[in-house]
Amino acid sequence: MTTTTATAPTYGTELRLLIGGESITADQRKTIPVHDPASGAEIGRLPVATDEDLANALASAQRGFARWRKTSAYDRGVVLRKAAQLIRERAEPIARTLTLEQGKPLAEARLEIFATADIIEWCGEEGRRTYGRVVPSRSETVRQTVLREPVGPVAAFTPWNFPAITPGRKLAGALGAGCSIIIKPSEETPGTALMLVDALRDAGLPEDVVNVVFGDPPHISETLIASPIIRKISFTGSTAVGKHLARLAANGLKRATLELGGHAPVIVSEKADLDKAVKMSVSSKFRNAGQVCVSPSRFIVHESIEKRFTEAFAAKASTLRVGHGLEETTQMGSLANERRHSAIRDLVEDARQRGGKVHTGGDSIDSPGYFFSPTVFSDVPGDARVLTEEPFGPIAVISQYRELSEAIAMANALPYGLAAYAFTQDLAESIALSNGIESGMIGINHFGIAFAEIPFGGVKDSGYGSEGGTEGFEGYLVTKSVTMA
Ligand code: NAD
Repeated sequence: MTTTTATAPTYGTELRLLIGGESITADQRKTIPVHDPASGAEIGRLPVATDEDLANALASAQRGFARWRKTSAYDRGVVLRKAAQLIRERAEPIARTLTLEQGKPLAEARLEIFATADIIEWCGEEGRRTYGRVVPSRSETVRQTVLREPVGPVAAFTPWNFPAITPGRKLAGALGAGCSIIIKPSEETPGTALMLVDALRDAGLPEDVVNVVFGDPPHISETLIASPIIRKISFTGSTAVGKHLARLAANGLKRATLELGGHAPVIVSEKADLDKAVKMSVSSKFRNAGQVCVSPSRFIVHESIEKRFTEAFAAKASTLRVGHGLEETTQMGSLANERRHSAIRDLVEDARQRGGKVHTGGDSIDSPGYFFSPTVFSDVPGDARVLTEEPFGPIAVISQYRELSEAIAMANALPYGLAAYAFTQDLAESIALSNGIESGMIGINHFGIAFAEIPFGGVKDSGYGSEGGTEGFEGYLVTKSVTMA
């Protein structure tokens, strides 16, 4: 593994709050440090919002909404499309910032930036198609129409695992629909989100339409959600925090879109293309060191091919080059923070103690950063923590099934229902799997489930509401029926 970087890392932006068009920098407030998780080095100081800052952000969002809702959908689209273009032009410095503060390989960070530009562009386009309806009336002299209007100022909270895509989805959905937004990106990965917002402002987004705050997450969410100015919340993160925010939103009858945890099953049938299933599964499993809400994490493999699948999977996983994300040769970077590192160590220890067999990995990598080796387990009992809690790390657990109905029951056994995958070349099996699995998203014979044009979201404890697709706008729009006589 490599721990040094070929080029001296530089942070791509000044860390700041953005409130009412004003930047508030680190020298003006108390600060918290931001670290490179792959080296442990401090890379920046982030200013913390005061209560007065939050009150100013709310007042700004109110002004911003009054202005942006009256901006035509066509003109909003022009700004979003221009921002997408600027993000593509700035992809390299944004990607380097993302990798430096989050740890994923640069190649993955670049893909994330282009996917974010794609989402912003798509929402800019699709915002022009939030059509209403004309409903036939009971009288010749009455015209009945149904209008779709932006819900109001939004409060959004995003995590550290996708520092561009998660803020990008919330910004794009809110702005495309005509809402203003106060966003609190993760304090661990603040620079990437600021660079996206800079692109929106440089593209012509009026001040007040987007405000960016950082600080103590529970205090900020409680303050913003309690304000009558905020009409909708959107959160990506753990199920526990999502349920807490849903309760806060319910107090004010505010809409919520919650994209929470998952523990995605992958059913590999004896009728699958085994080589393809192994190759795709390894690259999807260890993307972003497994810190992905839709990461495949429970491999449920037909008993007739389980041994071959496990051996091939472990052999391929053991060849992955782990290192600093800024090294071009790195295939898997560090974990994003100490919490994940110690959580993964505990899950692995628990699985080992319960008799799980390690085929590769299973240990931290001795270095200043939060590195853990790609790990493959089999023979783990169903009640082991790694099979019941979202692992959110570089661990694959492979189990066996005999009948397809048993595999579907295993897939559905957890409270989560975000993503699920299956590999089979049998049409009847594909239909049975897509009907039987309780999940917001299912990928059959590939892992490509997250694109701007299709809905992204879960069921059960994985949350509710969609981001992406035309469904993504639902959370940002209210319905008004108008009848005229
Ligand atoms: P967490 O839920 O505590 O934090 C996730 C994000 O939410 C962070 O950015 C955090 O700052 C923010 N947050 C936490 N409490 C908040 C509050 N009261 N109000 C507003 N924002 C708040 O999770 P974590 O410790 O960072 O990670 C733990 C687990 O969360 C992971 O193992 C994983 O299971 C899950 N997670 C899921 C996603 C996802 O994409 N769905 C992303 C990150 C973490």
